[in-house]
Amino acid sequence: MGNSAKIWLSSPHMGEYEFDFVKDAFETNWIAPLGPHVDGFEQDLCAFTGSAHAAALSSGTSALHLALILLGVGPGDEVICQSFTFSASANPIVYQGATPVFVDSEEDTWNMDPDLLRFAIIDRLAQGKKVKAIIPVHLYGMPAKMDEILNLAAEYNIPVIEDAAEALGSTYMNKSCGTFGELGVLSFNGNKIITTSGGGALISEDGNYIHKARFLATQARDPAPHYQHSHIGYNYRMSNVCAGIGRGQMRVLSARINARRSNFEWYENKLGAISGIKFQSELAESYSNRWLSAIILDPTHFDGKSREDLRMWLEVDNIESRPLWKPMHLQPIFRDSPAYLNGVSEKLFDQGLCLPSGSNLKIEDFNRIEARLTSFFNQ
Ligand SMILES: *Cc1c(COP(=O)(O)O)cnc(C)c1O
Repeated sequence: MGNSAKIWLSSPHMGEYEFDFVKDAFETNWIAPLGPHVDGFEQDLCAFTGSAHAAALSSGTSALHLALILLGVGPGDEVICQSFTFSASANPIVYQGATPVFVDSEEDTWNMDPDLLRFAIIDRLAQGKKVKAIIPVHLYGMPAKMDEILNLAAEYNIPVIEDAAEALGSTYMNKSCGTFGELGVLSFNGNKIITTSGGGALISEDGNYIHKARFLATQARDPAPHYQHSHIGYNYRMSNVCAGIGRGQMRVLSARINARRSNFEWYENKLGAISGIKFQSELAESYSNRWLSAIILDPTHFDGKSREDLRMWLEVDNIESRPLWKPMHLQPIFRDSPAYLNGVSEKLFDQGLCLPSGSNLKIEDFNRIEARLTSFFNQ
């Protein structure tokens, strides 16, 4: 068992055409942070998500950073952010000198709890704070309760930046995740549902935002023959080579979503009947890309055996799994940030495990995973 090939949590999965696009970039010498593949990839993203405008960038993190800049977030401001997420959702708030305010999750989708969001907004405003944006996240591809979140955002006139880094291909009320907020963020990091090796995008209905994002992402050069700057710029654009990979990946995105969803169904079939195991639930109005399949394992049902015991049990056969995100309010770096909590994300972190979820898993991989899961739960 010890020398079996590693089964990854979520590894890159190339299709048939990525290499042709990259080859074209070489042949035409478009080895630059702009070029025809960047334009083509942006068009593909708009066509797929239904968004009016898109800017291809170097990462999802840079997209979040630019979104905050475009909304004028600066020192002294506060930004409400989902606590249960990857640190990249929150770090750019600090880049801007603003303060993140964390809001806990609800148990259905594991995303921002609208009731707690209302409480947090009212409490921050009562304290005289300026809440400049709300960042809900569609974790593991599962759409957040956007209807309620958007209603609150409208009621208090606070713009929404949707962190859809994990949710390309997910929809809510038949509309793509990332297209609900003023600005939406996508990521094409190596482990995401499609990858450009590293990359991200900012999408919006408002062309002015995206125009300005492209300007800021290319060092904020004023229109002049020499280098002239009246703004602080960034080097955040996606390269034409990476965008070539992205164009190839867009051709297989639907197939990748189907594969991830059938992974989830497989786990649900194998484990769904075991009491003490739960899954992230898809609301009637939602369609998740099921980027990662995750379970909640309640140790009281398994003689005290925890998700960590299962993780190590899988590791013995070189099968990678990973605890759910550690909430931001528990991170040492954010320990002084205000947080509105209900215990949900702490429990998810204690009891949750992401299982191998790649779209490239083979029958043999599933056989190995099944053998380890069966032996763990039949102990
Ligand atoms: C991956 C991810 C990001 C950041 O994207 P990068 O492209 O890695 O910078 C942001 N938020 C969430 C929820 C993510 O999973």
